[in-house]
Amino acid sequence: MNALRIRGGSGLTLETKNSRLVFDTKPLGNSIQFISHAHLDHVYNLSMKDVVMSEETASILKAVHRRGEWTKLKYKEKFRIGDCLEISMEPAGHVLGSTQYIIDVNGLRTVYTGDFNIYDSLIHQGAKPVESDILIIESTYGIPYYRFPAREKTYADIVRWVLKTISSNEIPAFKVYSLGKSQEIIRVINTYLDIPVVVSKPVSKISDKYNEHGIPLEYVPIDKVEGLEVLKQGECVYVSSYRENVPTNKKVRWAVATGWALRYRHSNYDISFPLSGHSDYYGLVKYILESRPKQVYTIYGYAKEFSTNLRRIGINAKPVYEASQSTLD
Ligand SMILES: [Zn+2]
Repeated sequence: MNALRIRGGSGLTLETKNSRLVFDTKPLGNSIQFISHAHLDHVYNLSMKDVVMSEETASILKAVHRRGEWTKLKYKEKFRIGDCLEISMEPAGHVLGSTQYIIDVNGLRTVYTGDFNIYDSLIHQGAKPVESDILIIESTYGIPYYRFPAREKTYADIVRWVLKTISSNEIPAFKVYSLGKSQEIIRVINTYLDIPVVVSKPVSKISDKYNEHGIPLEYVPIDKVEGLEVLKQGECVYVSSYRENVPTNKKVRWAVATGWALRYRHSNYDISFPLSGHSDYYGLVKYILESRPKQVYTIYGYAKEFSTNLRRIGINAKPVYEASQSTLD
């Protein structure tokens, strides 16, 4: 008997006879906590004793002053609990260090994707589907409305806007997540334009970790004299996770880059680009078809709508919060 139970409710908790594993959610007493990546909505109490994450995730969390004694894993490394439970990680293509967790219990394979992106970007390879019996898949963009344009097109639109703004003697600035999106924007500018990128302090701290882990990025932090000089000279791009007063006499034009730009207006911004670290609806479905699970549980975002759509195309799916105490064996 495989005896793996999925607990319903918020977040994801798996239980075997002897262990309780929580993923990206608040730890219950006596559980092992697994973190899929360093976005703070996936990170809870890190001072507990049994916390597992990738080496890269740990180095990002340290850089943003989170403290704790954590078990750090490399991709594909095996983490064993007792005789019959084995856990390993595969890249998720979302941000530096993001992982899919593979949980093997007596021949039954469960995969939890965490936030993931199947499409290649300038900084990450797309997540590869992992075959499973049970798949727990994020559904942030889990309705058919979300079909993202080809990344190259969005990159080209970004470059065009940056050039246009600079040729008007203004400074193009991006308000984007400090982890993931900032680094992709920096890389777009580094790759296609010969224009320096000035970044806010939080963006610089996290970008340093990308450089340390072999993803080269060129930027100048604003809290260094050099950053202020580049801004004064005037021809540059600015990247920050918050909209702030940039120390320059020039007009600053702000852009956002997020998958939500497909649907929602960002009226306080000059422009918005539909650039996402997640898979769109069609990417989520593609992943499921290629990983061929027997049972799918959806989690986050459009979990209910996504599972309804999946059932319509013959896939056995329900939201994870409806999984209450289901026994899988
Ligand atoms: Zn995330």
